[in-house]
Amino acid sequence: MRTVYSVSEARTASKNARETGMKVGFVPTMGALHSGHMSLVHRAHTECDYVVVSIFVNPTQFGPGEDFDRYPRTLDQDLEKCRSAGVDLVFVPSASEMYPPGFDSWVEVKGLITETLEGSFRPGHFRGVATVCAKLFNIVAPQRAYFGMKDYQQLKVIQKMVRDLDMPIDIIPCETVREADGLAMSSRNSYLDFEERRAATVLSRALNAASDAFEAGQKDATALEEVARGLIKAEPLASIDYVAIRDAESLEPIQVVDKTAVLLLAVRIGTTRLIDNCLIGPNVNI
Ligand code: AMP
Repeated sequence: MRTVYSVSEARTASKNARETGMKVGFVPTMGALHSGHMSLVHRAHTECDYVVVSIFVNPTQFGPGEDFDRYPRTLDQDLEKCRSAGVDLVFVPSASEMYPPGFDSWVEVKGLITETLEGSFRPGHFRGVATVCAKLFNIVAPQRAYFGMKDYQQLKVIQKMVRDLDMPIDIIPCETVREADGLAMSSRNSYLDFEERRAATVLSRALNAASDAFEAGQKDATALEEVARGLIKAEPLASIDYVAIRDAESLEPIQVVDKTAVLLLAVRIGTTRLIDNCLIGPNVNI
């Protein structure tokens, strides 16, 4: 496994692999790697010949007062996990390597897809995400890039960016990996103390309760949202940013779940903000 720190080294290593006929698979991350990230790496391994992981806590996707400074950074362990998983190339740029003095070009995906939900609670977040992904795609030039459904809105934004800008990359969505008690794995789970960790299971319990209500015949989106909201409200350590059922592609609000929809949650457990989601609809099994 090679670890590189500069744009030019990453570009050259990936280009060399491609030129020998290898299919390049790319997994962008912010590090603090867990089994969720590694599931993307394993998937990339099964479908590609050369697997590139980037580890970069991207400052431009954090707003003022967010957790950029205290975001977990565990590079040594991350590199060890990548090595054991058979990653070929790890790209670990610094902020000044990605955003040198004079940097002034941004990728903005417009419309509801970036303005709603995470976009309304984290203004500028998706501009940072789209810009860093566009840059990483240009540097690594993979044939495939792997994204977790855990960050569902991010996945939809990246799919749209790639479509709108004709980027020659297949975006591969990957299932959310969960702890045994249902909590979606996240680097931010390390912020939770013992009591908060227990309370955090309310997100997956709320998703499951709404899915069960759908399976039992409830198709009304507001009623399904209320099922999830009711459970979360009963948890004293939790406070809701949003609970929303949306069209699974456009993220537009819907009244009735008569085709595939997504139930998205953002919930603060103490000071830790967690997100989770599940697909709901005919022919969807979670
Ligand atoms: P992050 O390091 O949080 O930016 O995540 C890097 C990638 O890993 C993104 O595509 C995430 O959606 C994905 N990811 C994070 N947590 C999980 C999880 N629990 N299951 C599957 N994918 C995940």
